[in-house]
Amino acid sequence: MGLSDIQARVAQAVAAAGRALDDVQLIAVSKVQPNERVETVLTAGHALFGENYVQETQGKWPAWRERFPQARVHMIGPLQTNKAKLAVELFDAIHTLDRPSLARKLANLAQARGDCPKLFVQVNTGQEPQKAGVLPGDLTGFMADVRQMDLPVIGLMCIPPEGEDAGPHFTQLAAMAAQEGVPALSMGMSSDFEAAIAAGATHIRVGSAIFGAREYAAR
Ligand SMILES: *Cc1c(COP(=O)(O)O)cnc(C)c1O
Repeated sequence: MGLSDIQARVAQAVAAAGRALDDVQLIAVSKVQPNERVETVLTAGHALFGENYVQETQGKWPAWRERFPQARVHMIGPLQTNKAKLAVELFDAIHTLDRPSLARKLANLAQARGDCPKLFVQVNTGQEPQKAGVLPGDLTGFMADVRQMDLPVIGLMCIPPEGEDAGPHFTQLAAMAAQEGVPALSMGMSSDFEAAIAAGATHIRVGSAIFGAREYAAR
């Protein structure tokens, strides 16, 4: 466990898949982790981080960005439309574009700012009723809509159902990205990032395997 162990495992998986190392970006998911753990990884020179909550990101990342100018932060959690304005100011990419109302909001913000974070469309590959994401059958229509809004969608993202083999979901997401003509694939977490790399992931989101288990404070 820890950053260098995970980097080594990523390199191994990339080589086993016959891919290039700079083809796969390791997103260190720092949500709710104690500051010292995150600062250790920042000090080691790691640049790319993932967060789930707009408020939490607003509280801790502006100061870190000043101290660690290499830092880039991606939003990987569900995004409420009323937090979109803050999100486009805080994040370099958003992995969770999942509905037309959010797309419209982001398009309006992009027009006002003349700039927009890179976007991934989240796909609910397991078709779970409680989970966010565009249903696979709706993806082509949704992609057409966001293209018309001129949004910078670079890829697809998925979170496979818990307790299921993630492999088929990764393969399915890769096939959908190819069909839609987008190059990036955000998939794979601590327990399955190697399978995701084998299936073509370009962005893996690894939290607990780098930082240790998350402890959610009772609030
Ligand atoms: C928390 C989270 C992760 C990281 O999970 P680990 O199992 O700790 O690696 C990855 N992706 C998303 C969307 C998450 O919310």
